[in-house]
Amino acid sequence: LSDALKTALEGYEWSTKLFHHVLKYTSDGKEGHNYLQKRGFEQSDIEQFQLGYSPNKDQFLSTFLQNKGFKLENLLEVGLLSSRDGNTFFDRFKGRVIFPIQNHQGKVVGFGGRAIEDGIEPKYLNSPDSKLFQKGKLLYNFYEARKHFQKQKEVVLFEGYADVIKAYQANVYHAVATLGTSLTKYQSNLLKRYVDRVVICFDGDQAGKDASYKTAEQLKEVGLDVLVANVPYQMDPDDFIDTYGPEKFQNQVLGSAESYIAFALNYLKKDYNLQAKHDQLAYIEKALDLVATVDHAVERDVYLKELEETFDLYRETLENEIIERRRINN
Ligand code: ATP
Ligand code: MN
Ligand code: MN
Ligand code: MN
Repeated sequence: LSDALKTALEGYEWSTKLFHHVLKYTSDGKEGHNYLQKRGFEQSDIEQFQLGYSPNKDQFLSTFLQNKGFKLENLLEVGLLSSRDGNTFFDRFKGRVIFPIQNHQGKVVGFGGRAIEDGIEPKYLNSPDSKLFQKGKLLYNFYEARKHFQKQKEVVLFEGYADVIKAYQANVYHAVATLGTSLTKYQSNLLKRYVDRVVICFDGDQAGKDASYKTAEQLKEVGLDVLVANVPYQMDPDDFIDTYGPEKFQNQVLGSAESYIAFALNYLKKDYNLQAKHDQLAYIEKALDLVATVDHAVERDVYLKELEETFDLYRETLENEIIERRRINN
């Protein structure tokens, strides 16, 4: 580890402690604390995830770090501070709730900073990519979640920090999130080293569905089993747990997660006008391609039954199509 990286790590460690302390004990942290409370975060979440608050002051952190003996220009590149002229430094995350992001060794290497008022752009300000912090290689909460992978060989993948923390309230500890980007090949391979199965639990809006499909395909490609959880439209997992509680989240969202194929068969319908005969045929072709990739005969049977009934087809025809496709594939 170079001296610059060591310094940056120490800077993040001090900053995490300071912001956490401010949130818990000081009047500067009051508005951050109120915000988290209003959103249903609990004291135990604040502890477990080392949440903090960066006071709405230009030089709160910078003064603190300077007094600790840091050369402030050394903390610019890793995004702890900002500067306009390279000489004077101010607090990059001011007025934001701090979600510390640990690397896979448990060291804090970046922050996600959440604005506490509506209309402030960006909603989340994250640390910039640097030698220390690479969004495409890290996963939020991976260090903690890894301790729980052994049991089920499964991970639940979320879109946001808030989702992971709320999932914790529902005793879902094997949870991670991407850091505001789509899942990379690197991250897929990383997960593959630790688990057999990924449950995708993204937001219930169209963007979340699109991302679920893309992510599922990518995870299948590295050989992972994929399930897609059922998050209602216009909600995300964090909203759902606030509204309906942890038990319903366990039963109705995670408990009713469907296989990648079942999800895809439904998701892909949006690309076809199923009232039109020509499009209907195109969809059925696509569906047969998907079903033919399933190795379990019983599972194939479930999907074929649905196609048979939805489109009023002969079962024998469908089965012959599957046999033909599997012969070509193998
Ligand atoms: P909240 O519940 O606090 O509103 P969220 O997690 O539901 O947050 P989404 O809009 O669903 O927020 O975004 C999911 C994730 O994407 C966030 O947790 C964050 O990591 C990232 N993100 C969201 N908005 C931004 C942004 N403006 N800039 C950078 N990253 C962002
Ligand atoms: Mn979203
Ligand atoms: Mn969300
Ligand atoms: Mn949310």
